[in-house]
Amino acid sequence: MMDCIFCKIVAGQIPALKIYENDHVLSFLDIGPLADGHLLVIPKKHYSRLDEMSGDEVAAVTRVLPELADAVVRATGAQGYNVLQNNGRVAGQLVAHVHFHIIPRMADDGLGYRWNAKKYPAGKDQQLQQQIIAELK
Ligand code: AMP
Ligand code: ZN
Repeated sequence: MMDCIFCKIVAGQIPALKIYENDHVLSFLDIGPLADGHLLVIPKKHYSRLDEMSGDEVAAVTRVLPELADAVVRATGAQGYNVLQNNGRVAGQLVAHVHFHIIPRMADDGLGYRWNAKKYPAGKDQQLQQQIIAELK
């Protein structure tokens, strides 16, 4: 995917401030951080969305998240962090190469998101439970 900006970073064609790398995974500083130390963690192989990846491929990426989160927390003094992974433009995904954000958080940092929890009308939750289970292979 040579028109993909993250594939270009993997290939060394554009620069990034790399934090960690192994055969399957690359982590680097987000160029537009929501907080100091905001990291991205990506598979080296191009996938647009998480559901295109096998469980093992996702596991190869996510297995490095605890160590990276611990390092960024200790380096920045963050009190917590969000791990965020967007799929599809409607979900806020701007770069169509799977990536996990690690976003350090501090009390009163002004970050936040709308979490407009709603209630299911009677029976809708059980209906969805059955529909989703039926789609599991
Ligand atoms: P998303 O909205 O989940 O697709 O997030 C894409 C993220 O990629 C944004 O936070 C951008 O700041 C970041 N980003 C885009 N281009 C680069 C780049 N060349 N190097 C580092 N981060 C980038
Ligand atoms: Zn890519």
